[in-house]
Amino acid sequence: MVEFLPLKLINKRYESEIQGAIKRVLDSGWYILGKEVREFESSYANYIGTKYCVGCGNGYDALSLMLRAYKELGVLKEGDEVIVPANTYIATILVITENDLIPMLAEPSSDTLLLDTEILEKYITPKTKAILTVHLYGRLAFSEHLKELCIKNNLLLLEDNAQAHGCTWNGKRTGSLGNAAAHSFYPGKNLGALGDGGAITTDDEQLAMVLRALVNYGSSKKYTFDYQGRNSRLDEIQAAILNVKLHHLDEDNKRRKEIADYYYNKLVNPLIRLPQHTNDNVYHLFPVLCSERDKLKAWLEGNDIQTLIHYPIPPHHQKCYEAFNHFSLPVTEMISKEELSLPINQVMTYDEMKNVVEMVNSFRL
Ligand SMILES: *Cc1c(COP(=O)(O)O)cnc(C)c1O
Repeated sequence: MVEFLPLKLINKRYESEIQGAIKRVLDSGWYILGKEVREFESSYANYIGTKYCVGCGNGYDALSLMLRAYKELGVLKEGDEVIVPANTYIATILVITENDLIPMLAEPSSDTLLLDTEILEKYITPKTKAILTVHLYGRLAFSEHLKELCIKNNLLLLEDNAQAHGCTWNGKRTGSLGNAAAHSFYPGKNLGALGDGGAITTDDEQLAMVLRALVNYGSSKKYTFDYQGRNSRLDEIQAAILNVKLHHLDEDNKRRKEIADYYYNKLVNPLIRLPQHTNDNVYHLFPVLCSERDKLKAWLEGNDIQTLIHYPIPPHHQKCYEAFNHFSLPVTEMISKEELSLPINQVMTYDEMKNVVEMVNSFRL
């Protein structure tokens, strides 16, 4: 059986280090915003290549508070438009509407499955204030062109880096390419905690200060509240675990790349299309496209290979976004019908990779 994501196995490799980290917190007697959180924020900022990192409760809050902080600073205001890929995980859209901003759902490229920068200009109106790019599947969704477009139109460039920890562009890491970036440490991500966790990275000192207050009730000094904040602190134990796992991120990503290279070399079934190959990728997921996706999934399941769909219903077709239900986004809709994620992770064995390739290649209609 090829498991899609053997989380227990992944974390067991660091068992004694993780136990040591948890014991450090236990023995410290300090359980909220302590040494481990500070150390993680500093190491992660250093890893990403930004001046600041502010930990928070999860990836959703990282995205949401990033937008909220810009509202507190008067850079964004209610009714402003934010361009976002239509084929993202719904969190990226939810945080925009939660902040009373308008999501402009942009079609991705069918080759890269990411924001199509060639057509982006048509979504820009006088109310557009930001582009929220998503490094979906671990693939780099950034280019010089995107940056120039933002500068030319005076737009914030924000990154959803939940799926791309460690991904680089010209030696710089995603999470440092725009004005600010949100990260999730949900257990299944490339850098995953043993529970929820998130962070925002930025070079903007003012933004970082507002964020630091927002995650802690809006308080920058005990019992004084400058903003109507919330409680979204990065947990001390999760930070201690992340301090362990950050050291292994690059080697884990390297292993994912080896598996992906093997897939790109060996997958030859004419019924299956692969997204454009690029080195700027940390392979959080390995998506393939197949017009008979559900049959392919059933075939692999019948051969003991687990797969998942990212994502079966696009945000604009969800009940919670009834107002968008009538939108026509053919590329986004095609991806939701044809995408299938093959198993890829840092503990996959050679036999498992070989098995996946053989079974995908022997799929027939
Ligand atoms: C996981 C994920 C999030 C949300 O992160 P949580 O920590 O689960 O709240 C946001 N955006 C994308 C693209 C994600 O994959």
